[in-house]
Amino acid sequence: MLESHLASYACHPAQSRGRRVPEEPAPTRTPYQRDRDRIVHSTAFRRLVYKTQVFLNHEGDLFRTRLTHSIEVAQLGRSIARSLRLSEDLVEAVCLAHDLGHTPFGHAGQDALHACMAAFGGFEHNLQSLRVVDCLERRYPRFDGLNLCFETREGILKHCSQVHAKVLEEQEPGGVGARFLLRQQPSLEAQLCNLADEIAYNAHDIDDGVRSGLITLEQLQAIPLFESRRLQALAEFPALAAPESQHRLLYETIRRMLSAQVYDVIDATRQALQAHRPGHVNEVRAMPVLVRFSEEMHGQSQALKRFLFANLYRHPQVVQTTDNARQVVRELFAAYMQQPQAMKPVFAQRWAGAHSGSECARVVADFIAGMTDRFAVKEHERLTGQRLLG
Ligand code: MG
Repeated sequence: MLESHLASYACHPAQSRGRRVPEEPAPTRTPYQRDRDRIVHSTAFRRLVYKTQVFLNHEGDLFRTRLTHSIEVAQLGRSIARSLRLSEDLVEAVCLAHDLGHTPFGHAGQDALHACMAAFGGFEHNLQSLRVVDCLERRYPRFDGLNLCFETREGILKHCSQVHAKVLEEQEPGGVGARFLLRQQPSLEAQLCNLADEIAYNAHDIDDGVRSGLITLEQLQAIPLFESRRLQALAEFPALAAPESQHRLLYETIRRMLSAQVYDVIDATRQALQAHRPGHVNEVRAMPVLVRFSEEMHGQSQALKRFLFANLYRHPQVVQTTDNARQVVRELFAAYMQQPQAMKPVFAQRWAGAHSGSECARVVADFIAGMTDRFAVKEHERLTGQRLLG
């Protein structure tokens, strides 16, 4: 039975490619709703609240964390999915899970762990998100991981190198690695989650950046996506020009930016759907990316991204803390490689059962990747006697 509100090109839960370990259907929920619920109840999901998005967790209570970021991505994703008659439940599941594999300390942590793992196959947060839902969560009697549907796992594995895709393909022929080898696209729901992620962080990083004092409203006036909406807001509400209304003006500008991008994606994607006319998700896979911005909005969004990169992510104050974060990850890795029994028992046991140096290093990477910022800082202090952050 097809859910009647879904378009023919959507992922229909009744036509899911299913789970790796077959399970009886749930009496009241579709498979994608069930995936969403499993993700929300997972340990990795709860840890997102103490993981860095841009600002380290201890730097302030109002900055986005990985958790609030993921919730904002899911909100944007659902809202666009409904307009395009895609599966909102699948979009929500993928959006909530998309950052589960992130290390503590954001991209600095991931870069440091990738460098530590250079001789052992590297570390990549997308692949790690898949590892979390496929094997690292241990809460069900019949399987490791959350045993999610193919479509949810496909959406979580947003990028994958050819080397890793080949490994996945050996483990699971025709599975989630195959599209990278065939150079195909994922479902429209998965494509949407990528774009919702981008819309969310571009907007909230402006908010957090201004709140932190690292970027200013004056600097942002050079960014067309921001400035056009700021002028619109001022034209409609001239009182927002008053100095005491700066925050309201910022929020109203960001709100208008979000709406403009959401409506742009809906329009541009509708046009792409009309041009390509996919009748089924399997046809979508062989087409170009269909969930997209208009060319103009794409250009504006890239300009904002470049601005945030140069002025926020590379701000000397951010770089200073991320240098310390890198050191924490590097030294934790070295310490556990020397004394694996210092890890939590379940990881120490996995190490004891490992068959090669690479497998041992992977256990250490899994342990470190799962840490929250503050647990990593505490562990580092316990093992080295040095407190570098917080
Ligand atoms: Mg994200």
